[in-house]
Amino acid sequence: AVPLVVAVSTALAAKRGLLIRNRAAFEQARNLTAVVFDKTGTLTEGRFGVTKVLAWEGHSPEEILRLAASVETHSEHPIARAVAEAASETYPVEDFRALPGRGARARVAEREVLVVSPGYLREAGLEPPAEALELSEKGHTVVFVLVEGKLSGAIALSDRIRPESREAISALKARGLKCFMLTGDNARVARAVSEELGLDEFFAEVLPQEKAEKIREVKARGEIVAMTGDGVNDAPALAEAHVGIAIGAGTEVAIETADIVLVRNNPLDVVTIIDLARATYRKMV
Ligand code: ADP
Ligand code: MG
Repeated sequence: AVPLVVAVSTALAAKRGLLIRNRAAFEQARNLTAVVFDKTGTLTEGRFGVTKVLAWEGHSPEEILRLAASVETHSEHPIARAVAEAASETYPVEDFRALPGRGARARVAEREVLVVSPGYLREAGLEPPAEALELSEKGHTVVFVLVEGKLSGAIALSDRIRPESREAISALKARGLKCFMLTGDNARVARAVSEELGLDEFFAEVLPQEKAEKIREVKARGEIVAMTGDGVNDAPALAEAHVGIAIGAGTEVAIETADIVLVRNNPLDVVTIIDLARATYRKMV
């Protein structure tokens, strides 16, 4: 049987949009020593706006944006949505393929077009031009456009830190928890967000398959760790953590893997669930 205080807490939590799917994990939440947050869509709003388009190899910025938008129309990534919205026209597209955690590709107007992360560029042995690095330095997310294998353009975007993130991080730190961030985005953006929020540590340019590995690393340091994320890419990390927390209108995969689902898009609910777990199980001993 479920002890009454736990049943009451579970119902109380549900009323506030905190769904406890795994009661053992909820109990474990009172012992947490660290919380790892995904960046995009969790600590930030995940709603990007295009701030600048750079073009090389004889292309115009308009053409770069149009080529990229043609590919991105078929992707559901928050970056893709912003790029697609920024262009006024697109070309017909063939053979679209998502490159999870790296970007997307397609054949656009008879040309092979890729829109990719800085990490992808590095893996391909290509150097980002100085003007692109400058934009990263300022804290913009930058994706690169390859046309027929040539680095032909870059698109800078910016996202916003959720106002509640700062409050959530300071509340967690006040409770003695360490706060980490995990992101596929570049290290400069990650550093800017990390400094802004006062995080203890961040892991940047993490590929989707490496996210769970990072959680294992944190666990190996002896931390009792919660992972908070929203995306398909986060599911293995949610499963690996002692407490997996899916946030907001997350993907189905993330929700199904999570121990706790926070229905509202609010990082402060992570603090609420920890407080609730502490209060619930304190009453029982
Ligand atoms: P995060 O870990 O911050 O949630 P993701 O793992 O979803 O980010 O993506 C990591 C990086 O891969 C992004 O910052 C971006 O550079 C690149 N990326 C992923 N999907 C796309 C896409 N559809 N278009 C352009 N870039 C993409
Ligand atoms: Mg994400």
